[in-house]
Amino acid sequence: MLKFLGRGAAFFGENNCACFTRGSDLVLIDCPMSAVHKVCIVGADKLAGTRVSRIIVLITHTHSDHVGGLGMLIHYCFYVLHIPVLVVAPSSEVADDILFLTQKLDGCDSSGYTVQTAENTDFEWFVCPVATEHTPQLEGRCFGFVLSLDGRRVVFTGDTCTLEPFMQYLSPDCELYTEMSAYASPVHLFIGELEPTLRELADKQVKIFFMHTDDEKILQSAAKRTGAHLAPLFEE
Ligand SMILES: [Zn+2]
Ligand SMILES: [Zn+2]
Repeated sequence: MLKFLGRGAAFFGENNCACFTRGSDLVLIDCPMSAVHKVCIVGADKLAGTRVSRIIVLITHTHSDHVGGLGMLIHYCFYVLHIPVLVVAPSSEVADDILFLTQKLDGCDSSGYTVQTAENTDFEWFVCPVATEHTPQLEGRCFGFVLSLDGRRVVFTGDTCTLEPFMQYLSPDCELYTEMSAYASPVHLFIGELEPTLRELADKQVKIFFMHTDDEKILQSAAKRTGAHLAPLFEE
């Protein structure tokens, strides 16, 4: 199961960031500044539950609530932890955008990190990126991921306005981490429209977790009605 260093949408508290540990790798999915503060305060080893020798960051898309802490994390790993960061981009276009951020804007030391596209990784836990739709300005540059953790399929939507691209991966017993909003907008998933779909998925034994949340009170009661849960937060 993923743990979250924050599960808030852009304007709602600690921004969405999931993490898990594989060997001595601490893996983050997206990298908001609030998550980097948590890594600094709690410590990477404590977050991972083991001695961390590398941090891997999977990036879903380049909105600032998802990459706003990336440069700072690379600086922190380089200057303080002395461990490398591997940034995994879902496509070569997004890799170029990330490099613009880390090289030109944040001036990260190139010996401290690597940016790779997902297709060039060979992690046994990585299955595939899933292209989705989110905002028109980032058309073609927004992705979710399918992972395989402890023998269980994990489907992570990232920011999306549709569940359609993910449906083919939702097998019984898989975990679906889906963004969810209590307020309607054209760029996010609106709980008011999705309850029937979520109930159908829950009936098919898909374990559903809401992340990237806005009004958690509304989403919590919707979760109860649909057999879903709020994504689990990391607790010390
Ligand atoms: Zn977002
Ligand atoms: Zn976004």
